[in-house]
Amino acid sequence: MTNAKVRLELTSTPKTKVPEDKLGFGQVFTDHMFVMDWDEEKGWHDARVVPHGSLLLDPSFGALHYGQSIFEGLKAYNNGGKVYLFRPNKNFERLNNSADRMSLPRLDEEFALEALKEFVKVDRSWVPTTEGTSLYLRPLMFNSEVGLGVHPAKKVTYLVLASPSGAYFTGGLKPIRLYVEDEYVRAAVGGVGFAKTAGNYAASLKGQLKAEEFGCQQCLWLDAKEHRYVEEGGAMNVFFKVNGEFYTPALTGSILPGVTRDSMLQLLRDRGEKVHEARLDVNELFEQAKNGQLEEMFCVGTAAVVTPVGTLVRQNHQTGELEEAVINGGQTGKYTQDLYSELVNLQLGKTEDKHGWLVEVCDAE
Ligand SMILES: *Cc1c(COP(=O)(O)O)cnc(C)c1O
Repeated sequence: MTNAKVRLELTSTPKTKVPEDKLGFGQVFTDHMFVMDWDEEKGWHDARVVPHGSLLLDPSFGALHYGQSIFEGLKAYNNGGKVYLFRPNKNFERLNNSADRMSLPRLDEEFALEALKEFVKVDRSWVPTTEGTSLYLRPLMFNSEVGLGVHPAKKVTYLVLASPSGAYFTGGLKPIRLYVEDEYVRAAVGGVGFAKTAGNYAASLKGQLKAEEFGCQQCLWLDAKEHRYVEEGGAMNVFFKVNGEFYTPALTGSILPGVTRDSMLQLLRDRGEKVHEARLDVNELFEQAKNGQLEEMFCVGTAAVVTPVGTLVRQNHQTGELEEAVINGGQTGKYTQDLYSELVNLQLGKTEDKHGWLVEVCDAE
């Protein structure tokens, strides 16, 4: 499989590109997409780069009804004439973990990476160059078998879409407000929280809407059993600096193991900081925010990069009143700012890549 060829079927009508300052997130797609099929008989076959366009599927296909669908998210960066991916092997490792949990076939990780590079190379002119922009890559695998029976897929489709995306921050880091969601849960231990699978995001929308109602950008999810221990931000993992040491929730099975989380743990250890993967009680964190022991809080993820949290908000369910815990005066903390710069400079090849995290794809043009 590793030496299998990727067939190229290139578009004859390239699109006009959207100006880089008009790029949002996930709205614009490149000229092509990567596709590969799987069935029981042939395994993975017919790897190809084809024009980005509609799929023709019978409306009974499995993923649409029963959610057997998993995805990934990573970025290609143009850093001074070359196109790089950041730790893509971690994404394929995680995609295979998601595939195992959802009874989907595994990919050959080495081939998946080679194929991804091949695809990005074809659409390399779409990798934006302005600071903060990138080409967001969305690998997706789903049950494409026709029929309404509930069983592991006998036919599966793997796709990679590419979408140039704009700068997440314009004009510096802006601290966000997080709503502590203590009614709905995102995921339970034993379930599928560690998998990047479609239904987790459908289930999270209620929390997201509540957060917005309370003037927050995102919600902070708690554990499903006691509604007390911090899990994550829904598409980002969370870090706390308490009394000079760093904390992030331990991976319990209900938390998505973020690549950025892993990178941040390594960067903090490289700096000689004390870091703990622990069980973090939200009541304690509110106390620590109030007495100043909670010095900084930030979220990390491929999309969020490093996002400061200025305020935690929760509702008293007896009175309906909101309680707010302001962190670092609602300002971006020094460590948060430094860690953001360190990660971005690393991704852009501006600082030494000590851990071999950058994977070169090709010359930019
Ligand atoms: C993707 C994702 C993250 C962040 O993972 P990264 O690999 O750092 O992008 C965190 N939580 C959830 C639920 C996610 O889907």
